[in-house]
Amino acid sequence: MSTIDLESELDAAIVAVRDAATVCQSVQKDLVTAATLEKKDKSPVTVADFASQALVCSALAGSSKIADVVGEEDAKDLREAGAEETCAKVVEHVRGVRGADVSTSQALDWIDLGGVTPTGIDSPYWTLDPIDGTKGFLRGEQYAIALGLLEHGRVVLGVLGCPNLPGPDGKPGCLLAATRGGGARILPLNGKGRDGAQTIRVSDVTSTAAARFCESVESGHSDQDQSAQIAKALEITEDPVRVDSQCKYAIVARGEAQIYMRLPTRKDYREKIWDHAAGLIVVEEAGGRVTDVRGNDLDFAHGRKLENNAGIIATNGPIHDRVLEVVGQYIG
Ligand code: AMP
Ligand code: MG
Repeated sequence: MSTIDLESELDAAIVAVRDAATVCQSVQKDLVTAATLEKKDKSPVTVADFASQALVCSALAGSSKIADVVGEEDAKDLREAGAEETCAKVVEHVRGVRGADVSTSQALDWIDLGGVTPTGIDSPYWTLDPIDGTKGFLRGEQYAIALGLLEHGRVVLGVLGCPNLPGPDGKPGCLLAATRGGGARILPLNGKGRDGAQTIRVSDVTSTAAARFCESVESGHSDQDQSAQIAKALEITEDPVRVDSQCKYAIVARGEAQIYMRLPTRKDYREKIWDHAAGLIVVEEAGGRVTDVRGNDLDFAHGRKLENNAGIIATNGPIHDRVLEVVGQYIG
């Protein structure tokens, strides 16, 4: 039995992710330029990563009963000599949302709140990817702020902030939110509370030949040669939808594609919990299914990584077993 008040935690998570999305957008506007793109300069992502984590952690510190946040970042690097310029930019953007009186040490302490290392699964904790899909962020394409809540090694709540994914009103920017047993919904990114929330459902397609699949833009994150072969064997005729970040889960949850394949490119790579927690529950609560490439459930009980899983297969449900069968033939 869960002792967590999921509805009140969901309200907290929605506010936190909205604040983080605001800061990501302001960093993008100020710092991502043709010149940074040209130089493949990743510094805007660094600033947005830290600022986003500061905002999520500060929001949760004020409104969530769950204190621990396992985030991708901590502020150690920002406190070091040589990081002054980056640190100043982070603080400036945090102030843009939280107010001019935020001190540097306060901002760094907020970031550090997200530097928790899980020591077990007895107490619940948040897991945060402050900017998932950093390459998409730099290109001005898809990225997400991904916040999940884990209890006893299971995801019980997730919010995905997707600043460039069209929302219910057709304009760029939406939020996907799900609680275990409570369904999945889409909300406008720039809204108040749950105003405008709409329930979402996966597609009801039952034949893989009629399916569309999503995968990473980055061929280093998912084997695109293998996915092309698998798609052919599944008689899929549509081109893959290639998008960065957990927006892939959002697209499946909304019924715009039926499959998300993430096929390991290396035997030793283990997926990070913050790259999948929020996306998984959004798809499951929209009626879909998520496993690894061998058909095992994702096991969030082993710290920062999915130590017992390889790759990801998310589908609308009815075609899941068929997809796994074919994936199994190709991945060996
Ligand atoms: P995506 O936008 O779906 O391509 O995924 C972005 C995420 O891929 C990042 O947050 C990284 O944690 C993760 N990542 C980095 N290297 C790999 C890899 N070799 N295989 C799978 N995922 C990776
Ligand atoms: Mg990520």
